[in-house]
Amino acid sequence: MAVDVLCEVKNCKYNEEGNKCAADRIYVVSHTGKRAEKQEETDCKTFDPGI
Ligand code: SF4
Repeated sequence: MAVDVLCEVKNCKYNEEGNKCAADRIYVVSHTGKRAEKQEETDCKTFDPGI
């Protein structure tokens, strides 16, 4: 468990109470595929809606 990862994406299957991420590891990417300049330009690729 990535104990220090807090996340607000409630509909991810790894999201647990207290905004905790239960994934063993997460992979964060720049969603433009290029250098990220702002927080908004990064995404968690480990996100899984569980459907
Ligand atoms: S896998 Fe990513 S999106 Fe899902 S709870 Fe963890 S940090 Fe959030």
